[in-house]
Amino acid sequence: MQDIVSLAKRRGYIFPSSEIYGGVNAVFDYGPLGVEFKNNVKRAWWEAMTRQRDDVVGLDASIIMARRVWQVSGHEEVFTDPLVDCTNCKARFRADHVIEEQGNLDVCPNCGEKGTLTEPRRFNLMFKTFMGPVEEDAGLVYLRPETAQGIYVNFLNVQSSMRKRLPFGIAQIGKAFRNEISPGNFTYRMREFEQMEMQYFIPPEEEERWYAYWKEQRRQWYLDLGMTPEHLSWHEHGADELAHYARAAVDVYYEFPFGSKEIEGVHDRTDWDLRRHTEFSGRDMSYFDDLEKRRYLPFVIETSVGADRSALAFLCDAYHEEEVNGEKRVVLRLHKRLAPVKVAVMPLSKKENLVELAHKVHDSLRPLGLTQYDDTGGNIGKRYRRQDEIGTPFCVTVDFDSLEDGQVTIRERDSMAQRRAPIAELRDILAAELV
Ligand code: ATP
Repeated sequence: MQDIVSLAKRRGYIFPSSEIYGGVNAVFDYGPLGVEFKNNVKRAWWEAMTRQRDDVVGLDASIIMARRVWQVSGHEEVFTDPLVDCTNCKARFRADHVIEEQGNLDVCPNCGEKGTLTEPRRFNLMFKTFMGPVEEDAGLVYLRPETAQGIYVNFLNVQSSMRKRLPFGIAQIGKAFRNEISPGNFTYRMREFEQMEMQYFIPPEEEERWYAYWKEQRRQWYLDLGMTPEHLSWHEHGADELAHYARAAVDVYYEFPFGSKEIEGVHDRTDWDLRRHTEFSGRDMSYFDDLEKRRYLPFVIETSVGADRSALAFLCDAYHEEEVNGEKRVVLRLHKRLAPVKVAVMPLSKKENLVELAHKVHDSLRPLGLTQYDDTGGNIGKRYRRQDEIGTPFCVTVDFDSLEDGQVTIRERDSMAQRRAPIAELRDILAAELV
């Protein structure tokens, strides 16, 4: 994991937030390659979940919502984690994590003292802030801890404006905030993060069928993006693990270097949220099926994944160290759709006529996505290695023969195979390979 964290920092993927001031615990910034990579993850999700389907539409709801939403959804009361303090070393832990690791709360996991952990107390994870000039209770608002509520409160707006029939879904990508007690493991558990959530509204009697359907769809998404099947597993929640709104839930686990951990949840949220909002807002959130002539509150199957967490899983899955000609090669075998840089163009030397042609070639490849031009000179092998390390699927080298025969070398990241191709056909060849 240390190698991945250090590569992420060194190569412009992920930086600690406010680093020059010592950083902010569990908050991170995405660098020039990180932002492209994470955008690619989000785009892949958005494509699969909305654009490639007729039955799911998008939404971008606000982060700050009426406080009432969080009271009615149950978050103000029960969106809590059990917190324990060590009276000796002052460290703080989530009681459930300590119990998971050592079976009980007898010993402090930090200092090892016996009997120093306090009784667990409930700690609400929502960040508070105030609207308006006075910090008073009337102005209290929360930074959303999940994006789902923005979808529920807009259910009627979306359904009527888009004239949607059930079953249909609403998808959203956006920031969420949780004042986690024990964050850690790099971007796995952050206090500010992004979620990609989809709520699928269905007739109540179709609950089981759609729950099974979305579990399968979500599994396939990871596989389509090249994730190692053996690194994925499923964890069905027992009755004692279910969130307050869920009747059934399954977590997708990924085998991280620090253990097998949740990256996504598929939840059967029943009509919990729409029922509560109907009850407390006074607006009837039910749906009228004009074909069947019946009115009901839809049930909801939710798929909820962290953009940062799944990106971290893709990054870990892609990271490989191998030996090539007696030297270590670090390569990110990212799926081509996720790789931040699609093609790097390099002139073999800094000779003027080569550089000119290489620039031309580079410009012609820009429509393929983010490209890089690398004329740092020196050893071409070293330049290939630098691209391997950031996951660039293709390098294109312009050499002296190119000036004569109008051909360049395409070098492929995973196999390291090289072949010649005419400049005139280069863009089409690479475009076909990059889909
Ligand atoms: P955990 O048990 O890890 O705290 P959770 O079960 O509370 O997670 P959900 O409320 O189901 O998580 O959130 C859905 C998804 O949002 C998670 O699967 C994860 O990918 C992402 N997520 C939740 N909390 C965080 C966080 N603190 N940092 C990064 N991603 C998160």
